[in-house]
Amino acid sequence: MSDYTYLFYDVCAVLALVTLVLALLIRRLYKGRNNKMFLVLCGILIFAGILDIATEYMDHFVPLSANSAVARYVLTTVYFMLHNLLAPVYVLYISSIIGLWYKMRHRLTPLTYFWFIPYIIDVILLLLNAFNHRMFYYDSEFNYVRGPWIYVLYVIAFYYGLMIMYVLIRYRYVIGNYWFWALIAMVPLNLAATLIQLMFPYYRIEIFISTIMAIEVAVIIHRPEDMIDDAVGMQSYKAFISTVQTGFDFGNPVCYLMIRINNYRLLRRNLGMNNYMRLIQSIAADINQTCMSSSLHYETFYLEQGSFVVSSDINKYDDLLGIGADISNQLARPVKLGHMEVLVSSCVCLVKCPEDISTKEELLNFEGNYNSKLPESKEVIVLSERLNDQDFRMRNDMDAIISRGIAGHKFMMYYQPIYDIATGRFTSAEALIRLIDIEYGFVSPGIFIPAAEDSGAIHDIGDYVIDEVCRFIGSTDFEELGLKYIEINLSVAQCIESNLHDKITDCMRKYGVRPDQINLEITETAADYAPEITDRNIELLSEDGIKFSLDDYGTGYSNVSRVVQLPLDIVKLDKSLVDDMNIPVMWTVIRNTVSMLKRMNKKVLVEGVEDGEAVQKFTEIGCDYIQGFYFSKPLPEKDYLAFVREHNASEV
Ligand code: C2E
Ligand code: MG
Ligand code: MG
Repeated sequence: MSDYTYLFYDVCAVLALVTLVLALLIRRLYKGRNNKMFLVLCGILIFAGILDIATEYMDHFVPLSANSAVARYVLTTVYFMLHNLLAPVYVLYISSIIGLWYKMRHRLTPLTYFWFIPYIIDVILLLLNAFNHRMFYYDSEFNYVRGPWIYVLYVIAFYYGLMIMYVLIRYRYVIGNYWFWALIAMVPLNLAATLIQLMFPYYRIEIFISTIMAIEVAVIIHRPEDMIDDAVGMQSYKAFISTVQTGFDFGNPVCYLMIRINNYRLLRRNLGMNNYMRLIQSIAADINQTCMSSSLHYETFYLEQGSFVVSSDINKYDDLLGIGADISNQLARPVKLGHMEVLVSSCVCLVKCPEDISTKEELLNFEGNYNSKLPESKEVIVLSERLNDQDFRMRNDMDAIISRGIAGHKFMMYYQPIYDIATGRFTSAEALIRLIDIEYGFVSPGIFIPAAEDSGAIHDIGDYVIDEVCRFIGSTDFEELGLKYIEINLSVAQCIESNLHDKITDCMRKYGVRPDQINLEITETAADYAPEITDRNIELLSEDGIKFSLDDYGTGYSNVSRVVQLPLDIVKLDKSLVDDMNIPVMWTVIRNTVSMLKRMNKKVLVEGVEDGEAVQKFTEIGCDYIQGFYFSKPLPEKDYLAFVREHNASEV
């Protein structure tokens, strides 16, 4: 065997490791504790490999001298220190994956002592070796000779092997079978490599085998790319779930700063995918930068759909609050995207776990929609301060409130009179649902309808609305007062019910309602969402003679081609347009919008009119109907009938 052969395994190992590390760094897979620990492991292996090569090189190629003897001692000692460091660092790496890290860092548990004391013994013995040569030495001909203490190193390495097996077996349930087998394979393979090298010192394969295992961990098991959102440069949703899981499994107190871009859908659609991703990357970079400039030990995650999380230990709560405030301020300013400036609407919330939220499911659920449960705020919302807040509790309790409402028949229909400018009479109304809860009192449909859409309860609620309104239309009072039709709000979820047409027509038959007595309100979102089913429903219903209104016009994209395509009778201008009517440029927009809609043969209704001046101005520009508190708030059926009786009588 030539002298070079000694080095082959180590050289290959170092080259492979350098390639692996470069690949990880280039792909930015260095975020997050697990990835960092893995890189540390690779780094130790590389240095151990280089030292092994250097020692071998000196043994075979450097002429003997007193100086080179000292260098050889130092190199071998450092090599042993590094090589023996691998096993305890592997224990740390596994602990990080499992989530034991927190326990080891914050409390000196027996595990912590068991972990570091044997390695300290290694180091002390290696340092003493300089004086007593009990571990290894170079004889008078400068041949490397093992001393009796060297076996202590092997015993300690074996001990760490057992420790790794213990930790993996004990916490197998946290990582699952697949990871378990892959991680535990490291122990017997390294043990075999050590024994081979012990018996046949020519085969310097220890580092090489460890390298193969590192590659296996990187490529097959750990797959850090799964845990990183490469485009954004933060950890992924998957990594977040596993962090949350381990946090709760071990009861680690963690705080999470949640940052959500409320208008991400709008931005994604209006900016185009490329610009939207640039925006998300720029926000992610700002968040990373803000965290980096603090002394915080943190992890950052991008959970898609405009949602970011920064996690940190609970004792850094105050720092995280400060970071939250900085991020919130940054997000309040326009973000520059090339020539464009984009305004994002955001919500930042700080959550302590397990104090505020005690299970993984609840936390993930909260993360998914906390912005709808919390009132808008420019400040960081501290969840613990909101837990007693009535509004938050109500929003959080919404599923229970809706179930109670359905079971206890607590829903009611109110009717808001609609003024017909041409006749000066109130001949129609919008049906608006109301819910009075025993615990929370009046619950706004603006809150429970979206929650019911999320939970699926909207179908039962929608059925109730249709039945109740048809019953009212079929009543003798309705006919006698000369009322023409009632507007019924259809939610997005109802629009895609395949049997919507049958449901409505069955109900109309039940109460003897004519198609011209019903007007269904849809929104642009409804019309955009699953357009095939929605269009089919609209087509079937309008073939029967039922008319449609487009609700909330002016809040979405105000898509004119959609207005042309849909068989709409009425377009309802949203209240926000009324609110802006005193801004000259907005008034021009409103006037042009109305005249355009009129030229398209649509009737125009203005919603949310609260004063006489608005009534006058919207009348002047040619609107057909007016609805708003100026005339009346939504009223219970009896009050609505009384209102119509009184006002229509006085107008005629
Ligand atoms: P919407 O369909 O746009 O209803 C108009 C909302 O504006 C109603 O709020 C109404 O009370 C309010 N409003 C009317 N005039 C004025 C005014 O002059 N000033 C102010 N400040 N507000 C005015 P409400 O009843 O709270 O309903 C909110 C939303 O909940 C509705 O918006 C609609 O999207 C939804 N909703 C209400 N009832 C139903 C329902 O039966 N089914 C479905 N799917 N959604 C419903
Ligand atoms: Mg409406
Ligand atoms: Mg509306």
